[in-house]
Amino acid sequence: MSTSDLDKSIQYIKGVGPKRAQTLGRLGIHTIKDLLYYFPRTHQDRSRVETISSLTDGSTVMVKGIVFNTKSYKTRGWKSIFEISIGDGTGIIQVKWFNRPYQSDIFQVDDHVFLYGKVSSYKQSLQMVNPEFEIVTEEDGKARSVGIIPVYPLAEDMRQAGFRKLAKTVVDEHFHKVEEILTDDIIKKHKLVPITFAIKNAHFPDSLDRLEEAKRRLKYEEFFLFETAMALRKRSIKEANGNRFKIGPNVEKHIYKLFPFKLTDSQKEVIGEIHEDMCSERPMNRLLQGDVGSGKTAVAVYALFAAIANSFQTAFMAPTEILAEQHYRTLGAMLSQSDVKILLLTGGAKVKTRRENIERVKQGEIDLVIGTHALIQQDVEFKKLGLIVIDEQHKFGVMQRTRLRQKAHGLHKPQPDVLVMTATPIPRSLSLTVFGDLDISTIDELPPGRTPVETYRVTPKKENDAYGFIRKEIEKGRQAFVVYPLVDESDKLDLKSATVEANRLKDEVFTGLNVGLLHGQMKSEVKDLVMNDFINHKYDILVSTIVIEVGIDVPNATVMAIEHADRFGLAQLHQLRGRIGRSSYQSYCLLFGTPKSAESRQRIATMLATIDGFKIAEEDLRLRGPGEFFGTRQHGLPEFKIGDIINDYDILKLARDDAFKLVREGYKSKSSKNQMLLKRITESFKDKLDLINTG
Ligand code: ADP
Ligand code: MG
Repeated sequence: MSTSDLDKSIQYIKGVGPKRAQTLGRLGIHTIKDLLYYFPRTHQDRSRVETISSLTDGSTVMVKGIVFNTKSYKTRGWKSIFEISIGDGTGIIQVKWFNRPYQSDIFQVDDHVFLYGKVSSYKQSLQMVNPEFEIVTEEDGKARSVGIIPVYPLAEDMRQAGFRKLAKTVVDEHFHKVEEILTDDIIKKHKLVPITFAIKNAHFPDSLDRLEEAKRRLKYEEFFLFETAMALRKRSIKEANGNRFKIGPNVEKHIYKLFPFKLTDSQKEVIGEIHEDMCSERPMNRLLQGDVGSGKTAVAVYALFAAIANSFQTAFMAPTEILAEQHYRTLGAMLSQSDVKILLLTGGAKVKTRRENIERVKQGEIDLVIGTHALIQQDVEFKKLGLIVIDEQHKFGVMQRTRLRQKAHGLHKPQPDVLVMTATPIPRSLSLTVFGDLDISTIDELPPGRTPVETYRVTPKKENDAYGFIRKEIEKGRQAFVVYPLVDESDKLDLKSATVEANRLKDEVFTGLNVGLLHGQMKSEVKDLVMNDFINHKYDILVSTIVIEVGIDVPNATVMAIEHADRFGLAQLHQLRGRIGRSSYQSYCLLFGTPKSAESRQRIATMLATIDGFKIAEEDLRLRGPGEFFGTRQHGLPEFKIGDIINDYDILKLARDDAFKLVREGYKSKSSKNQMLLKRITESFKDKLDLINTG
């Protein structure tokens, strides 16, 4: 059967021996099919042959002519040059290759050649340097290199021409064997070209239009496969057994009494959705997004306490120790009148203490464990874990989310409910991919009485004015953060560091005020102490590094001064700004420093232009690209070969809708089309997704 043909090793192709197969393996090409799906990075339009007399400096062109003469020589003793001149009846051009002595054996006077490359000027005439070439036998000989030519993403030691030749052989012989996995309905509805046409034209297109059609089809297919996987994964989580919590009006009243404020409508609405999830027999798998300061913690508290009221253990995970400690303090204070047992589990604890704590969790003595990623270490086990809340999800990867879920994953045990929260609003393209298996809730309003933060740039000349302004705020009874990119002075970078600057600010600038220092290299206890002192207003100013980026909640602070603001990413700047504006006082974000690159200027401009986290996230994704967006390769974002989730968002959305419709309505894993679909999904994304029960 043809499928097995395509699964054959690439060594099956003539001219590919073990050595070449190994090289191809480095590109992920092991089978014939792998090569068919190894798409060009770009194409060069060499379908037009230009006349030599029409060439202009700087253009990249294809020319054809006859070799008049050839010569080899060396410049200043070390660079070897091989030079020919060719003419086509309209003119003559010099062609040079550097350091390719073997080329002299290849060209003969009177050969007919095609050349493709860039034209440059040299001593008042034009030349081509290191062009690609092809020698043809007769003047009219058809050149392989004429047409729209693929350029492949290759390793440095591999040559385009050789790879292209191999690709041509494989595509010509095998493209017609690729099987169609899309239904006729879908193909008709979106006017897609057949898969065989797409494979052929993605490599060696007859025209640029056909290339576009081929790419559109393949992008759709790639997204469709991925989204079908997402839909199946979501369904399998939905079909698993969950805990059916009972959350009656009494429990709710009890929880609401713990809050010193009335919930916003938006918080209530989201709690309604969570309530429904928790009371259903299916596990919750929900993402809560809400801009910085929108009050996500209160929603988490609702879910945690409701689960505890049902006699389950719960886990609350935060990305930094400082934030975990803050949650521990806040929730601990709320629970001080109750007999709920709460534990802080971070990496900083002593081995013995940690071992004891872990044992208590395992015995079921603890109702609520708050911690950092130390929570998902191998040795942590729960007796009866009912709910997991992950704060600031964007700082964690999908893999970590899966690991924590597996903590309660006895084969027949009901799965815990999972609530992940993020203050980085998820750009729409990511909500369809990285978070494509989650239900999404959104808090879209801030608690009442907040005044939008005002943001200003502070140029070097205005620094003293800015410090004066901060002092005035402190005289009014407020507090301020001053953030630096580095902990210690570095001799490489001329950046102000937190440690050195804390001293300078204390001694020279803010004399008479209380200045505290906080950074990530301090011991946990020290960090905790400093943070506590700042909350209790023992310090007016907290000099800090990026450690306070996420989650920190000190409503009395109204100034966020960021030194070298150009050194921070957009998401970081937005998070830092989110530390203020958490009360009814007017708050101010001051961006110090001089942006040096176009991109850093763009970041600062965005911060000045908007406080809307969603717009900032979209801009951030655009500036950095999806791979960098989460700042880690562990984010679980699949690497699409041909689709681009930002630029091809429209195709992504179509594929998403079709895939979810298929799984909702007509998905029968036994049909042969679906078997093929499943096989392709597994091949394409096997390492990226843990596909639970796709069958
Ligand atoms: P984030 O969504 O950034 O995690 P937090 O949960 O830290 O926000 O809440 C930000 C601040 O707003 C906290 O000081 C919190 O006590 C307060 N807050 C939360 N909900 C309300 C509300 N409904 N009314 C008034 N203040 C609230
Ligand atoms: Mg928070």
